[in-house]
Amino acid sequence: MTDPLLDRHPVLRLLPDALREVVRREGRSYGCNSADSLTAESPVVGFVISGALATFDPCGLACVSLLGPGATFGWETAFAPAAGGRRLALLDSTWIETPVSGLRGAMGSGWLEHIFAHHALDRIQRLQADSACHAVHPVTRRTANLIRRLAQAGGSDLRTTQSAIAEAMGVQRTSVNAAVKALEKEGALCLRRGRIQITCADRLAQAACGC
Ligand SMILES: [Zn+2]
Repeated sequence: MTDPLLDRHPVLRLLPDALREVVRREGRSYGCNSADSLTAESPVVGFVISGALATFDPCGLACVSLLGPGATFGWETAFAPAAGGRRLALLDSTWIETPVSGLRGAMGSGWLEHIFAHHALDRIQRLQADSACHAVHPVTRRTANLIRRLAQAGGSDLRTTQSAIAEAMGVQRTSVNAAVKALEKEGALCLRRGRIQITCADRLAQAACGC
């Protein structure tokens, strides 16, 4: 793992030298295509460089977070075995993974607990916001919002699928199809084969619930 690659992630860039050394030695970079499904099996901490990965609960029922560039995942594997939660790529994505054992060896469990607690608080707040959104906002506004968030991660020409979006939102694909068609009619976006192109970011933002 090279320094320029580590410097592409805001957390890796700021890690103490001892930890950077661990990631440089033990880290591996990964990439996957939009709509690929991945299962977390070994205890690793991940650093998302590009794209967007939706993570699901261990039963695979609900999306628990959307990881864009700069996000991290897997800190909980320092304290509990990897739960086998699934990740689904909503865009072509790249990330770096490093075994949690190396991080613990370099910094000790106390440091990891601190990072985990910080990360867990963020996640709880995000989950609360997401469940409120799910309860009160219609699918069209939620779809617009998710596409808006994907555009923040991947730009205005998104290689993604409506079924991956539906899965991440926990709704039927037909509902997302209808929502996307409505957004196309409003001139917010344009559907291409396997792609969604944002044609008017303002209209998309107006249609989105903004959660
Ligand atoms: Zn919402």
